[in-house]
Amino acid sequence: MAMTRDITCHQAVALVSDYLEGALARRDRRRLERHLADCGACSAYLDQMRATIALSGSVGPEDLSNEAVARLVDVFEKYHRENSGESPN
Ligand SMILES: [Zn+2]
Repeated sequence: MAMTRDITCHQAVALVSDYLEGALARRDRRRLERHLADCGACSAYLDQMRATIALSGSVGPEDLSNEAVARLVDVFEKYHRENSGESPN
């Protein structure tokens, strides 16, 4: 798992709250930033998290329930499918 060079959207979402808290290891931060540079859905999510933090002052696990993550990942996968330019078959 730690050997994976490119992270998935699901992993990126899981890393975003730590990223915003400055809690990520440099290696993870770089991988996340590379993903964000490449992925409009996740950078939009990062902006949303920033806005949430600006409003609430902090972000905790309760702000990122498994259900919320699952819903976001669903959106991201759809986004990627629609932007891949490939037909499903
Ligand atoms: Zn992504």
